[in-house]
Amino acid sequence: MNPSTVKTGAVYLVGAGPGDPGLLTVRGKELLAEADAVVYDYLANPRFLELGRPDAEWIYVGKQAGAHTMSQGDINALIVDRARKGKRVVRLKGGDPFVFGRGGEEARELARAGVAFEIVPGVTSAISVPAYAGIPLTHRDVTATVAFVTGHEDPLKETSGIAWDKLATGVGTLVFLMGVGNLAQIAESLMEHGRSPDTPVAVIRRGTTPEQKTWIGDLKHIARIAKENRIQPPAVIVVGDVVGLRDQLNWFERKPLFGRRIVVTRAREQASGFRRRLEALGAETIEFPAIAVKPPESWDPLDRAIDKLTAYDWIVFTSVNGVRFFLDRLRASGRDVRDLKGIKIGVIGPKTGEMWERLGIRPDLMPGEYRAEAVVDAFKHLGIQGKNILIPRAARAREVLPEELRKAGARVDVVHAYETVLPDHDAEGLKEGFRNRTISMVAFTSSSTVSNFVKMFESDGNGQLREWMQQVAVACIGPVTAQTATEMGLHVNLISPEYTIESLVHEIVSFFAES
Ligand code: SAH
Repeated sequence: MNPSTVKTGAVYLVGAGPGDPGLLTVRGKELLAEADAVVYDYLANPRFLELGRPDAEWIYVGKQAGAHTMSQGDINALIVDRARKGKRVVRLKGGDPFVFGRGGEEARELARAGVAFEIVPGVTSAISVPAYAGIPLTHRDVTATVAFVTGHEDPLKETSGIAWDKLATGVGTLVFLMGVGNLAQIAESLMEHGRSPDTPVAVIRRGTTPEQKTWIGDLKHIARIAKENRIQPPAVIVVGDVVGLRDQLNWFERKPLFGRRIVVTRAREQASGFRRRLEALGAETIEFPAIAVKPPESWDPLDRAIDKLTAYDWIVFTSVNGVRFFLDRLRASGRDVRDLKGIKIGVIGPKTGEMWERLGIRPDLMPGEYRAEAVVDAFKHLGIQGKNILIPRAARAREVLPEELRKAGARVDVVHAYETVLPDHDAEGLKEGFRNRTISMVAFTSSSTVSNFVKMFESDGNGQLREWMQQVAVACIGPVTAQTATEMGLHVNLISPEYTIESLVHEIVSFFAES
């Protein structure tokens, strides 16, 4: 065998961060994208699945509280085995692998087995969760020392390996992980060893996620507060005067869309701008494309139109996809944008306009309002009597625009440049979210996404969907989309006055501000 073709396996112990997918490191992301196998305890965020290769092996090894799926020994054996088979294995671990994560044990096992390994540190919950609650662990004039402590151990038991007497008064800020179950004993032990009962304490549950919740108290009362609120793990507990800074620094929980989980139904290629905007405002988004785009059944009509381009006075584009497919066919016919000279370009929507601007072409008409009716009015002002207009657009689109232009005296050719179809993924993940009520809103950006969305739930009866949707807010871009939603039996909570993502996002923020 040629040695250069021998694949050498390796294991990467990668920190996945505390939950917010943005807190995965660049190195971690790169390794996930290349991994042959990913071994994970629980997914800090299901979005990490999208970062892996579709053909990678994903192995869940459990470790949710109380439900150990695989013993530590079996996990060690598994990663050694995969690496010896020449695989690049990512061992994805919550937070940082070396902070209370048993990463050290796994690394020693790999060293012992002679398997190559690397450690990719992660953003530990010990620091990031307090940060997302607005608590800096050290602060000038408040404290210069911090300790990370496991709360797993009952401090009242005789053989504690933790020097409580020294911790209680020797360190400024104390951060406990895995401490919810022992909170009462921890507080008691600290007070017993001399820490003031009115020392501020924060308990932060599911930090850096939309479910983040923070409770504030002092050492004397925090156990009662936790009990009354039935606080469950996972939570980080911070003890020390730095907790007081939260009053001023609580930035994350104050974002306008904090805690909202919003389903975005746009086509994948177009969803990212919308998602980024919502996420910047603190929302978590779930991408659920209810529409996919494919070429039309036949290119003939579009190709024929392109062959006689000079016969047209205007070409009107109603969508980014219309522009994209038109330009593809223009090039396929051996032409390019210079063949459009003399023809006026009309666009609906700023994104459609941007497509042309990027090519150095300034559209001749870009109506400020995007409904077909308003667009026709804009055209009428230009005098379109007797003009030849080409509209390359989706098959089965609304007829209002061509009809109204014809009524105004134009000759209009509508050709199908693409088709919108139902995407081929299923709705299982979303159903789960509806069932356990973790979804706050579904946002629709076109009539076809509404009807496709409803169709995608048809297999198990839409009665179920309508029942779920009673618990979820429905946001629609513009009145036409809203009308379709109403016709499909959905209740509509908000309608943006304009057909833009900006306007929709603005309405979503106001909606949640009032609710
Ligand atoms: N290696 C991990 C810690 C594993 S121990 C890290 O560096 O973060 C598990 C403990 O981490 C939990 O009991 C809890 O105390 C803490 N934890 C992890 N993620 C958390 C989150 N999103 N919010 C609050 N606590 C979290």
